[in-house]
Amino acid sequence: MTAIAEPPVAPVAPVEVVRNPGHGESFTAHMVSAEWSEETGWTALDLVPLADLTIHPGMIGLHYGQVAFEGLKAHRRMDGAMGVFRPRDHAARFQRSCRRLAIPELPEETFVEALDLLISADQGHLSDDPSHSIYIRPIIFATDTSLMLRPSRTYRFLLMAFVAGGFFGEDVESVSVWISRQFVRAFPGGTGDVKIAGNYAPSFLAQRAAEAAGCAQAVWLDAHERRYVEEMGGMNMFLVRGTGADAQVITPQLTGTLLPGVTRRTILALAERLGHSVAEEKLTVDQWREECASGSITEVFACGTAAVVTPVGRVVDGDSGWTIGDEGRPGPVTLSLRQALIGLHHGETPDPEGWLHLVR
Ligand SMILES: *Cc1c(COP(=O)(O)O)cnc(C)c1O
Repeated sequence: MTAIAEPPVAPVAPVEVVRNPGHGESFTAHMVSAEWSEETGWTALDLVPLADLTIHPGMIGLHYGQVAFEGLKAHRRMDGAMGVFRPRDHAARFQRSCRRLAIPELPEETFVEALDLLISADQGHLSDDPSHSIYIRPIIFATDTSLMLRPSRTYRFLLMAFVAGGFFGEDVESVSVWISRQFVRAFPGGTGDVKIAGNYAPSFLAQRAAEAAGCAQAVWLDAHERRYVEEMGGMNMFLVRGTGADAQVITPQLTGTLLPGVTRRTILALAERLGHSVAEEKLTVDQWREECASGSITEVFACGTAAVVTPVGRVVDGDSGWTIGDEGRPGPVTLSLRQALIGLHHGETPDPEGWLHLVR
């Protein structure tokens, strides 16, 4: 069991409140650090100022990508308390990602203690703008100095955070997405279902092509048949069939090449709570296009910790494309799910599952 440093007792003064957070660069003042070796296991967590690292150029993590990470958010509730959304689910996925890369797992309790340490120290950076949040980034990387192709025998865990902006309320804009026909994100037996550093650099060329086509994100198809729709960029996707109370909420089935998003799982539960039927299906691009044309599919959205719920208005596929629903405008089911999720984040809607962890 890892010994834990005492969290600061008094709330830290609101130093340097971030007003314009930007996109992933407004880091908070501290990070939490621990190290692992075969002899000692995980050391105690250390809360230290966020600072440059000194690493050897021959570090295994740098060369062979033995690096796993997570992404989760803390929000401020109306009563001022900080709530982290579903940290234990993120801890479990972090363990799964580590196992896949032969990295020692971090105990769930240690993961949660690290969050508590960092958020209680750095919550003063968060303004009271409810659309802002603290995005938390845990990472574990291999630190052995060796260029042998083997798993490292030492590791470093770091947990850092940045203040994230975002939209709030009903004025949400739809995005266009671009179908990646040349590049795939994941393949059977690979690492598409875990969050590891090596999954992301290979997606950058497709992301660039999507942007060149005027789109916000690439849509990933299955690697084998190149027919089934899997994900969008670093987000899971949802479709709505029909309208009103009878609308069905659908998401691509987890086939082993999709990343099982915590937001995805949350949206499935929220949709049921709102009275919709839900389904996990394999859906082809052709079916997607035809069902949009026939009016069967009425809404499409992407979801993830960073994106929350983002409506999709148009799909570009090579030289052609199609528009979704009412001229691509955000649909009512999308918006109600988005509101329900944001309500949960801020502790404003019932939380029977106890998904919101209040920072100690
Ligand atoms: C992180 C991620 C998601 C979303 O997962 P959440 O747990 O909802 O944040 C979806 N797809 C990919 C590829 C991801 O890396």
